[in-house]
Amino acid sequence: MSKRILIASNNKGKIAEIKDYLQDLNLEVIGLDSFPSLSNVIEDGETFRENALKKARVRARETGELTLADDSGLEVDYLGGRPGVYSARYAGPGASDEKNNLQLLKELENVPLEQRTARFKCVMALVDPDDGSEVTVEGTCKGVILTAPRGDNGFGYDPLFLVPEYNKTMAELPLEVKNKISHRAMALQKMRKAIKDRYREL
Ligand code: IMP
Repeated sequence: MSKRILIASNNKGKIAEIKDYLQDLNLEVIGLDSFPSLSNVIEDGETFRENALKKARVRARETGELTLADDSGLEVDYLGGRPGVYSARYAGPGASDEKNNLQLLKELENVPLEQRTARFKCVMALVDPDDGSEVTVEGTCKGVILTAPRGDNGFGYDPLFLVPEYNKTMAELPLEVKNKISHRAMALQKMRKAIKDRYREL
C-alpha cells in the first residue's frame, strides 16, 4: 500500500503542481478537499516558516496524515523585506492582486531600478503525526520590481517581477518555465529529496 501525503491547501493549482513534482514517488497525494469540515488556520506568524509549520502541525493533528504545508510571498530589499508574510493583504485585508501591485508601485515610486531588487520566497513544512518529526525547506527566486506591469500569466506580483536571466516578468514567462524556476519549485525540489531520504521505501 502506498503512503499518503496531505497537501494542506485548497488551491487546486498548487496541489496539482506539487502532485506533478512528487509523481515518481510511491505516494498518494491528497488535498484538503478530502477533509471538508475543517475550519481555517489563522496565519499569524511573523515568518513564512512559522506559518508553514503552524498549518502543517494543525492539519497533521486534525487528520492523522503526513502533511505538507507552504507559505510564500514577496520580499523587497528597499522595503526591508516587506510585504513578506503580508504579501496577500499588503493593501489591506482581502485586497486584490491589482491593489497589492499598485501599493507596491506607490511605495517604490522614484526608487531607481538598481534599488528595486526583490525575491519570492517559499517555505515548505512536512509534519509526520506518527512520530512528531518536522522538516522545513526554503526556496527563493531573485528578481527586480519594474515600474509598470507586464504580461498576463501567473498571479499576485508576477506582472511586476522581472526575472533578469530571461529579461521577462514572471507573468510573461510560460507556466512551464515559471514552474521550473519559481521559489515553490526550488522548495519542492528540496522537499522531494527530504521525503525520499526519510521514507526510503518510496
Ligand atoms: P501563498 O503562500 O501561496 O498564500 O501566497 C501569499 C501571497 O504571496 C500571494 O497572495 C501573492 O500575493 C504572493 N505570492 C506567492 N507566490 C507568488 C507567485 O508565484 N507569484 C506572485 N505572487 C506570489
